[in-house]
Amino acid sequence: MRNWGDELETKVVEINSNNPEEDLIKEAAEFIIKGELVGFPTETVYGLGANGLDEKAIKKIFKAKGRPQDNPLILHVNSIEMLEALVEEISDKAYKCMEKFWPGPLTILFKKSSIVPDSITAGLDTVAIRMPSHKIALELIRLSNKPIAAPSANTSGKPSPTRAEHVIEDMQGKIPFIIDGGETGVGLESTVLDLTDDIPMILRPGGITLEDIIGVLGQCGIDPGLEDNINNIIPKSPGQKYRHYAPKAQMYVFSGDMDNVNREILKRAIVARSRGQRVGIMTTTENQEQFLDFDVEIMGSSKDIETIAHNLFHLIRKLDEKNVDLILCQGVERDNMGLAIMNRLNKASGGNIIYV
Ligand code: AMP
Ligand code: MG
Repeated sequence: MRNWGDELETKVVEINSNNPEEDLIKEAAEFIIKGELVGFPTETVYGLGANGLDEKAIKKIFKAKGRPQDNPLILHVNSIEMLEALVEEISDKAYKCMEKFWPGPLTILFKKSSIVPDSITAGLDTVAIRMPSHKIALELIRLSNKPIAAPSANTSGKPSPTRAEHVIEDMQGKIPFIIDGGETGVGLESTVLDLTDDIPMILRPGGITLEDIIGVLGQCGIDPGLEDNINNIIPKSPGQKYRHYAPKAQMYVFSGDMDNVNREILKRAIVARSRGQRVGIMTTTENQEQFLDFDVEIMGSSKDIETIAHNLFHLIRKLDEKNVDLILCQGVERDNMGLAIMNRLNKASGGNIIYV
């Protein structure tokens, strides 16, 4: 007999991302149908999935993650028919974005229909929906035939999982089933786009960039609540107000002229080491030679922003595993995917972005 509070047995099953084995995904879908949670890969990060129309199952997500109740969830769909049941209307702008970016890492806010539970939207009258492009995610939605509510499958506050091992680390004993589909592609969460006002607004930067959206809609703004270190503006996306993606170590991010950035990182690393602190450095391929003497993690080439995004959360977790006391990280330009990377680094470092 299982007592209340006992750990669940967690089954981890490897599934081929390019050609998912249907019988294995069926097993996962049955957990979703039964109202249980499943960890699964998407093209952004791993999701912690539940039947998005089942209040009891949704509660389990908040419990497993330790997620604040006022942080709404994204629903994942695999068809326009499934979307239509969840929303009041689909605007022309939404159709344009869906045509261009779905399936893919763009979440759109819609006016919610009455079948969407309040626990999904945290009481808001809008619901966030996306159609993922990952084959395993699409198959899981198809075989369970439910919109799947899925925040990132990490403990709230920690870096989002981009590999099954990250999900196992955070969710083992809390959920019955994890699909291991290898590393996720983008490595950062989806872009959250609000199309419910006149001017389209990005509430969270992500895999689809501001430039991409302007290319389709002609204009798009960024929620002022996303600015660094501005504490008096409450972001429209409730999730943005929480500490997020954070390592155990103290973290600083350095932006500006590359020579100054390298000099500042080196100077601080030397000082910290002389105080007996263990230092981890996150830098680009081009700059690694500056820090040969330290524990360096290479994010990728500074010319390859997608690779930096892909590696970001894994490297933060890796340095945590090495038990470093201090992480010193090179920043990136805030254009294209760089905007999302700097948003995550700002959160991960608790706003410790230093301009040099
Ligand atoms: P996660 O699922 O952890 O990637 O986080 C989902 C993000 O979407 C959070 O930042 C939420 O605040 C945001 N979000 C979800 N639903 C809404 C909504 N109805 N209005 C504004 N932001 C939302
Ligand atoms: Mg998350």
